[in-house]
Amino acid sequence: MTTLQDQLIARITAEGPISLADYMAECLLHPEYGYYTTATPFGAQGDFTTAPEISQMFGELIGLSLAQCWLDQGAPAPFTLAELGPGRGTLMADLLRATRGVPGFHAALRLHLVEASANLQKQQAEALAGYDVTWVDSIDELPRQPLFLVANEFFDALPIRQFVRDGEGWREKRVGLAEGALCFGLGPEASQPALEHRLLDTKDDDLVELSPAAAPISASLAQCIARHGGAALIIDYGDWRSLGDTLQALKSHEPVDPLTSPGSADLTAHVDFEVLCSVAKGAGCAHSKVTPQGVFLERLGITDRARTLAAGLDGEALENLIAAHRRLTHPEEMGNLFKVLGLTPSTIAPPPGLNE
Ligand code: SAH
Repeated sequence: MTTLQDQLIARITAEGPISLADYMAECLLHPEYGYYTTATPFGAQGDFTTAPEISQMFGELIGLSLAQCWLDQGAPAPFTLAELGPGRGTLMADLLRATRGVPGFHAALRLHLVEASANLQKQQAEALAGYDVTWVDSIDELPRQPLFLVANEFFDALPIRQFVRDGEGWREKRVGLAEGALCFGLGPEASQPALEHRLLDTKDDDLVELSPAAAPISASLAQCIARHGGAALIIDYGDWRSLGDTLQALKSHEPVDPLTSPGSADLTAHVDFEVLCSVAKGAGCAHSKVTPQGVFLERLGITDRARTLAAGLDGEALENLIAAHRRLTHPEEMGNLFKVLGLTPSTIAPPPGLNE
């Protein structure tokens, strides 16, 4: 039994069942025992591998897409270059290296990272040694100036609530106790104003998910971009509108039961891109099509970049490069499951890679 498990059992005994969102928040970000607080989640030794950890090409191409947006908007200076949930700092390090040759970009950028985990902040500081980095707890603390932002696998780490349709109302999935162990149960039937539109496309017993934090974050970043200029690239797994249970717990690259050993497995859920888009639109931003990651990277020239890198390689290193290219782009690997969304001011075309 982990200590977080003891704490959760004590809390549920005292207060009654808690929502899945409260459970996820404790598991991921508990200041002492949370997954992102304590674990080293990424890479071959960790629990999962993200795109920037697969190949430098990912961060490089994101960098060039954002730098082109910056040039297209008249190279505003100063501007905020920001990342939400930067993990080990790999994507940002690759992005910065790739944009070194863009005249004026580095002189104008003010680097801001939004990161909740002190442990990961330390790793980011090491990866970005030599750069002037400001860490903030929330997107609302970013300076009021043009904002060029990337978020890779950030929204999928935000806690979700789950609801099961029951007549004209919903029963919320909660974490309670059965014989002293954590278990899932359903709360009483109630109406949910935020799910009003889902009464139209669901039937009894269907499960829908809602991320309480996703909409406000999308609204804040869209407001900043609409007001001051800039662009956001949001990359994550998921699709347009959520349906069904997508909660996933991963440990050592294997799926595990989300309720066993809380705090020691990564918990994620598919991102509902419809919510991000509609909120961003309401805040005055244009949004691109939700584009498969493989299509996005191919349009930005990942195959040419891979060829250039391949020229200096042979043997295992070359095999690894070919495998990384395939993993990032192939529809049966990350190419289709992961989607890219671009946000820009309403009068500005979508970032490169997301155009028709
Ligand atoms: N973008 C990285 C890491 C993805 S994991 C990559 O692609 O490799 C999710 C990241 O988001 C971690 O850095 C985690 O600590 C951070 N995170 C999760 N919830 C957060 C929150 N509410 N506020 C800020 N950062 C958060």
